[in-house]
Amino acid sequence: MYIIMLGAPGSGKGTIGRELVKKYDLSYFSTGDIFRDEIEKNTELGIEVNKYLSEGSLVPDEITIKIVEEKLKSMDKILLDGFPRTIKQAEKLDEFLQENGKSITAVINLNIPDKDVITRTSHRVICSNKNCGASFNTMFMPPKKDGICDICGSKLIKRKDDKPETIKDRLVQYHKNTQPLIDYYKKEGLLDTIDIDIYSNKTKEETAENAGKLIEKKINSYK
Ligand code: AMP
Repeated sequence: MYIIMLGAPGSGKGTIGRELVKKYDLSYFSTGDIFRDEIEKNTELGIEVNKYLSEGSLVPDEITIKIVEEKLKSMDKILLDGFPRTIKQAEKLDEFLQENGKSITAVINLNIPDKDVITRTSHRVICSNKNCGASFNTMFMPPKKDGICDICGSKLIKRKDDKPETIKDRLVQYHKNTQPLIDYYKKEGLLDTIDIDIYSNKTKEETAENAGKLIEKKINSYK
């Protein structure tokens, strides 16, 4: 099973994705997490990609595709968060899956207005424990205890690229490079869209349940 989460930064790909991972017993795969981890460990790759993440631009396709292909070889039943992000990456993923006799099950697109992305990401805090990776929002989804992760008790931190000026650049990149994937997957008959309203009282569990229903509908349509 290969599920792709599409959506602008701050649309909730990671939060909803992690709920789906629990529900369907999938491996969670986030290129953003891989890059942040390499940066923190100060590896050669980390040093190379740091400038792209700091300025809110995309890591070049050649680097990203190479990393993803290496990791995907040893994984199955995956939820992809943040990959693909360009048409080239989507084409490469299709090629890779075809060569390995696999295919994409469903693509869930989380649709959120740009102004809400700015509001949501400026209040986002994430768990400092990489194995946990939980995300909270001081305005919309606060942790029970200020600055502490509800799930594992680690410190909550802000992502360096959640500054308003970097978010604006990430949104430009999103509209230019990633939004075209909506049409790409629509043409393949794989896309379902969920509208995200940050002011509604809908919980992440409810949105994930909605996404789950769309995924199951897709699975049933292949039978
Ligand atoms: P994310 O955690 O998914 O928001 O990603 C954080 C940053 O990592 C992005 O702003 C990009 O700089 C980089 N990144 C993550 N995934 C990709 C990708 N598929 N292609 C290129 N750059 C990526």
